[in-house]
Amino acid sequence: MQLETSRAWIEIEGKNIEHNIKEMKKILSSKTKIMAVLKADAYGLGAQEIAKKLNALGIFDFAVATLEEGINLRKSNVIGNILLFGYTPIEFLPLVQEYDLIQSISDYEYAEKIEKLNLEKKLKCHIKIDTGMNRVGEKYNAFSRLKKIYTNQKLEILGTFSHLCTADSKELEDKQFTEEQINRFNTCIKIIKKQNLFIGNTHLQSSYGTLNYQNFQYDYVRIGVLLFGIYSSFDFYKSISLNLKPICQVKARITSIKTIEKGETVGYGRTYKVKKKSKIASVSIGYADGYPRLLSNKKAKVLILNQYAEVIGKICMDQIMVDVSNIKNVKIGDIVTLIGNKPKIKVEEIAKLSDTITPEILSRLGKRLPRIYKE
Ligand SMILES: *Cc1c(COP(=O)(O)O)cnc(C)c1O
Repeated sequence: MQLETSRAWIEIEGKNIEHNIKEMKKILSSKTKIMAVLKADAYGLGAQEIAKKLNALGIFDFAVATLEEGINLRKSNVIGNILLFGYTPIEFLPLVQEYDLIQSISDYEYAEKIEKLNLEKKLKCHIKIDTGMNRVGEKYNAFSRLKKIYTNQKLEILGTFSHLCTADSKELEDKQFTEEQINRFNTCIKIIKKQNLFIGNTHLQSSYGTLNYQNFQYDYVRIGVLLFGIYSSFDFYKSISLNLKPICQVKARITSIKTIEKGETVGYGRTYKVKKKSKIASVSIGYADGYPRLLSNKKAKVLILNQYAEVIGKICMDQIMVDVSNIKNVKIGDIVTLIGNKPKIKVEEIAKLSDTITPEILSRLGKRLPRIYKE
């Protein structure tokens, strides 16, 4: 046994990334490029390793949330464009330039501050347009403010983008709102272009918009969760289902097995009582590793020797308990799969049971879990 796989760990399969890119490309027009979204350490799976794999697969456009995430990619010699979605306080813009990163411009006020700076060269940037999400971005119809951004002499504008807020819904009202956002974006671009202002490459869609609004792909699609072969949840609407393969598995080991009598309870708070004599195993993973405490007594499943076992009692910080009464020959040291890459045990299920979406589950997988990369 290796130390890395002695307690709990994440396995990441590079060949599935390659497969998922091929699948995505089936629905992309030849003019549209993938911008791989690797924020939050590639949703917890390791941005540096995944970016390098993507470089090897011919992907040279990336986006991350923060300056530090961008710097980390550069420091590991990732090649290509790296867009920062997040806000960078202006005193750190020299670092954006030092590491050859691309800053998102969140509104006119931010652009105006940059105009007053003494940067050595123009700041590479993409302009963010707010088409109705009301998070960040200059308003799609604030044309005098937009004009000032696009004529700002301190900006080297490489792109223009917006973000949809309900592209994953099949409700009529949501679809209409998405279409309205698309219209606003298109009209905004048209009007800016008409004034002979340069807008650079355009992008609007993330994973779900790419699946649900195929006729609007623009120059880039910004793909996060689908690269990892995972849907945000079972319930999100997708007009096209691709044959994606999950790239990650989360595994741990059985550390103790005991038999308890009918009526005894398991774990903190005595919240789970066995209805009959049962065989109970402890498993070396807990909420500090990102296995949500919300899964306590939710009948979550794990796989042991290719058979299901139910998670019982409260999730502890470093351990969980499972009922292994029906699993013959189970022994200490056996591998427990908590998130698998086969249909049998899916992260979408874990997300649903813990009332969230898969990107939250993945991005909160703990630092304590070694990430093990396989080809
Ligand atoms: C996170 C993010 C994405 C990627 O979203 P997925 O649903 O994972 O594809 C795209 N664009 C922006 C602005 C984001 O913040």
